[in-house]
Amino acid sequence: MSCAALYCVCVPNLESCVAVPIVCLHVLAVLIMQCFGWTAILTQMGTARLPTAAEIERGDIVACSVCRTIKTPTTHHCGRCNMCVEGFDHHCVFLNTCVGKANYAAFLGLCTFAGLCS
Ligand SMILES: [Zn+2]
Ligand SMILES: [Zn+2]
Repeated sequence: MSCAALYCVCVPNLESCVAVPIVCLHVLAVLIMQCFGWTAILTQMGTARLPTAAEIERGDIVACSVCRTIKTPTTHHCGRCNMCVEGFDHHCVFLNTCVGKANYAAFLGLCTFAGLCS
């Protein structure tokens, strides 16, 4: 017996029969969205990595004028976090953290499930 059929047996009202599985899916989507959100928040944004030999040869390496970290071409300084973040995309005001290379996948999952839940 499927989960939806079980709800129909337990709840004979037709509106409840349709509403209960939808509510369950919505709650599940909200829980998954929160998992992605907390992962994006708690993941270290990925501070500047060590440059590769090719980047050193090309001369792409510069020091950050604010925090003095060695910056690669994909590293940018976030003024709100006051640190350099590799693969910097943006500073998310809702998560109060930078979205960078390390937490970009979790941020995309959060956005996807936030869209599904709305
Ligand atoms: Zn910096
Ligand atoms: Zn930031």
